[in-house]
Amino acid sequence: MTADLLTRARRQVLDDGEGLAYDDLVEVLRVPEADIPALLELAHDVRMRWCGPEVEVEGIVSLKTGGCPEDCHFCSQSGQFTSPVRAVWLNIPELVEAAKQTAATGASEFCIVAAVRGPDERLLSQVREGIQAIRAEVDINIACSLGMLTQAQVDELAEMGVHRYNHNLEAARSYFPRVATTHSWAERWATCEMVREAGMELCCGGIVGMGETLEQRAELATQLAELEPDEVPLNFLNPRPGTPFADLPVMESADALRAVAAFRLALPRTILRYAGGREITLGDLGTRDGLLGGINAVIVGNYLTTLGRDPADDLGLLDELQMPIKELSKTL
Ligand code: SF4
Repeated sequence: MTADLLTRARRQVLDDGEGLAYDDLVEVLRVPEADIPALLELAHDVRMRWCGPEVEVEGIVSLKTGGCPEDCHFCSQSGQFTSPVRAVWLNIPELVEAAKQTAATGASEFCIVAAVRGPDERLLSQVREGIQAIRAEVDINIACSLGMLTQAQVDELAEMGVHRYNHNLEAARSYFPRVATTHSWAERWATCEMVREAGMELCCGGIVGMGETLEQRAELATQLAELEPDEVPLNFLNPRPGTPFADLPVMESADALRAVAAFRLALPRTILRYAGGREITLGDLGTRDGLLGGINAVIVGNYLTTLGRDPADDLGLLDELQMPIKELSKTL
């Protein structure tokens, strides 16, 4: 069974560079545990063939943390739950300092994130000021993640020189109503399309392990493939106290690795980034398995509301695996 699937995937994805479709992805997410190493090996071969050995390193900073009016059930930054995250704003010198520290790790992308439904005038003018200040002192690509956008805001961000915009689908269309009720999946999709059409790189991913079925996990991968993002951040649910998903179990590491392989086989050419939750789902060993199973980008330093790994650990691991860090000059 698995042998047939792998043979098919080898031909279609590895040889022809064409992502697997829904039915095959469901099968990938169901492979027996004993076949996971072979599956990861194929996903790694696909990544090496279609993306190369380089790993993109990215840093993120939160310009505005907490107090978001939306109700995404996984998110401790929602103001609607009792999660212990206070609303905090960063000032411009702090932003520049964070960009400097990120660049010092060798990272090529620095993403400015705000916990909002979408940016208002105040936030956009802070972002504009921040980008100018960073540009004056630090050589790094600037990305933003500021929620849902209007066409005018998309145009404004493109004009500011934002290199990449992050906005996640978060979940499959069919599961999204269980994840958030204050906005729709279609609204998220619309922002992603506008970003891509404006010529910014699109970073769009999701979270697995939120109680969705394997079919819905495969559905998310196919919907992402349809959007053709430049980068897909793959998050594993880290159930946060006070959120509606607080009591969901942490995903089994075997399932997390199946998901890594499935996303790579759905998206052979995309930058596939380990985002939040990998520490609790996979631990140190899993991080290595993922990097040898299709992942080709990592975030250094802290995530938005939870502690990530020490940058030195990740950079040391990349060195050991002989995976060079993608240089800034190659991303411009
Ligand atoms: S819109 Fe973003 S910050 Fe706000 S609750 Fe949803 S995921 Fe959290």
